[in-house]
Amino acid sequence: MVAHWGELTGKAFEVIKKEIAILPVGTVERHGNHLPLGTDYIIPEYLAARVAEALGEGAVVMPTIPYGVSMSLAHLPGTIDVGYDAFIAYVEAVLREAARNGFRAALVINGHGGNTRALHIVAKKVAFETGMKVGVVDWWSDVAQEVRERLFTAPGHAGEDETAAVLAIRPDLVDMGSAEEGPSYTKVGVRFYDREATRELFAKGVTGDPRRADAERGREFLDAVVKEIVNELKRILPD
Ligand SMILES: [Zn+2]
Repeated sequence: MVAHWGELTGKAFEVIKKEIAILPVGTVERHGNHLPLGTDYIIPEYLAARVAEALGEGAVVMPTIPYGVSMSLAHLPGTIDVGYDAFIAYVEAVLREAARNGFRAALVINGHGGNTRALHIVAKKVAFETGMKVGVVDWWSDVAQEVRERLFTAPGHAGEDETAAVLAIRPDLVDMGSAEEGPSYTKVGVRFYDREATRELFAKGVTGDPRRADAERGREFLDAVVKEIVNELKRILPD
C-alpha cells in the first residue's frame, strides 16, 4: 500500500505518519524517435512508488513535477523547457510545503540530467532554511553503477539503459522499430557549455544505442536502483 499525497483525503493525511516525502521530478523532452516524451518523469514516478512501498509506513509519494530544464534539447520538437528560474522557484516552493506539512525528510528522485545542478542548489537551500533533510538522486547515475556497467554496453540519453527502463515500466509507450543509434558521450574534466556542440550531440536526442535494450535488463537495473536508494534512506530515517 503506497501512500500518494494526492490520493489521500485530508483526514487521512492529518493522521498519517510523515517521515519522508518522495518527489519525482523530470522533464518533457525528446528522447529520439522511440521513447515517450515523458520518459524523464515516468521513470522517477515509478521509482518513487517502489521506494515508498519498500519503506512502508511513513513514506508518502508527492505528485510529480513533470516540467524541467531542457535547454539542451529545446531545438527538437516535443521538448518543453521551462528554464532555470521557473524550475528552481517551483521545486523550492513544493519542497518547502513538504516541510511545512510536517515531513522530517524529503527525497527528490530526478530523471533528467538538465535538472541536476538546480536541484542540488534547491535541496541544500531548503534543508538549511527549514531543518528538513533533503536528498537528491539522479536515478541513472548516482546509484547501482556497478549493475549499470555490467548490464549495458551502450548507455546514454534515450540509450540502452534508459530505453531498457521504459521497456520494463511502460513497454506500450516504446516504439523499438524507430530506435536509432546515437553518438557516444564521454565525460571530460573541463566542461564547456557550448550550444552548437550540444545541438550536434543531441541532433536526434539519442546518445548510446537503444537498439540493444530489453525489458529484462531494465527490470534488473531498476530493482538495483530501488534497493540502493532504500538502503541509503534507511540510514537517515528513524527505525
Ligand atoms: Zn531521459
